Amino acid sequence: MPNQNRTAPKRATRRQQESSQTQAKTEHHAGDSLDRHTLPPLAELQRNIGNQATLRMVNDGSIQRLMSADAFKASTVLSTDSGLKGLFSKGRNKVDAIDTALAAFHAIDYSQGAPKLTALDAVITECTTYMALGNKQAKRKGGVGTLLAQANAERPWVQQSVPIFAAANSLAKARQMVLFQDQLVPLVLNGTVDVNALNLDVGRELSICVAGLSAQDKQDFIQDDINRLTAMSTNNGLPQITRDVLTEVLANLPQIDLGAGPSGAGLTNKGPTDPKYFVMNTTNRMMGTGERLGSLAHELTHVSISESYSNTNMMWAFNAGLSDDQIKTLSDHRVNQLDQLLALIDGIPGLHDSQKNRMKEQLAYAKRPNLMADANALSAPQLTRFNDLAANGVNWSALVEFDTNVNQCLILMASWGVAHDEPFHTLLQAVAQEAYDARQAG
Ligand SMILES: [Zn+2]
Repeated sequence: MPNQNRTAPKRATRRQQESSQTQAKTEHHAGDSLDRHTLPPLAELQRNIGNQATLRMVNDGSIQRLMSADAFKASTVLSTDSGLKGLFSKGRNKVDAIDTALAAFHAIDYSQGAPKLTALDAVITECTTYMALGNKQAKRKGGVGTLLAQANAERPWVQQSVPIFAAANSLAKARQMVLFQDQLVPLVLNGTVDVNALNLDVGRELSICVAGLSAQDKQDFIQDDINRLTAMSTNNGLPQITRDVLTEVLANLPQIDLGAGPSGAGLTNKGPTDPKYFVMNTTNRMMGTGERLGSLAHELTHVSISESYSNTNMMWAFNAGLSDDQIKTLSDHRVNQLDQLLALIDGIPGLHDSQKNRMKEQLAYAKRPNLMADANALSAPQLTRFNDLAANGVNWSALVEFDTNVNQCLILMASWGVAHDEPFHTLLQAVAQEAYDARQAG
């Protein structure tokens, strides 16, 4: 391994990353992002995606459409209704508000994005209200339920017709894009939306938008994600270890300079009054907020590892006092745990192949065989020792990227709603607990 430029400040590497999305990542943990597309690559966004894309989708029929007001009335007529009575009978008055909202929605052109969205939300609200009624009170749930499903599927398209993508970069735009992506991703994963027909790479567009924000807006955008993780840390619906891990890694925030860009974490090597660490998280994610939060938790875990073990600038995830034999034993143990986890991923029910592949990539990344020691971060004797250990079969990835990727998967499980007692999730919690306990012991 070349031992080049050992004294170069780590910070300089980070600056380079910030200035170029495409530059090969040389920062020690910067390969974490795996932000290359894990779904089939999407065609690039046309610059004025808003109305253009909406009109194209309307024209080619790929856009979701709500049934007409007449079709809705027909779908909600009961056998006990008859003729005009069926449409105007007393029993129908509970769906009058839906009739009205639906007619108003159809009266607005798709080019009028904001009013169209408001009108659609009124339809959704009225349908949701009706569906919440008891079955004896609300006998027309069949038609109303169909309309509600159509309206929910329609919402991302209408939201897109609000030309958020053509607007100037702003914090508000970035936040809208996050909402849009989080609505879109489930539709892509369940097959409702053909992502190739959509011709839209929201993650990429979001990353471009965030990169164009002012420093303060960027911080506010990142804070949104910190707030999401903080909320998860107190969510009683999540496994205890998931909450404990989040509490642990978030506690280091006062020492961290957070940034948006190619993912990575490391020591700033700056003065004692400056943040000790930097953490970067990319916003270019195919699967939206859950994936972004998982990655952020991953990077924050690197810091936690460093605080727990203080084991070189490489942030090794083990006690610095371990003997060579103990290091080898731990490496074998971690690789074995990763193999066990990997073998269970295909059996997770309810997840799309893209989601399973996402986790497979992360856990495989945690045991990739190459020594990823950054020569800049190690002394010459350390390099010699660690390279010798690598030659003897120590998997350094598993000793740096184990806790991080395990914790990342915890967040993905939570974000994707996988049952706590599902076999992969169960093993993941046990493995995460073991690593957590080891970090606590230092
Ligand atoms: Zn990492």
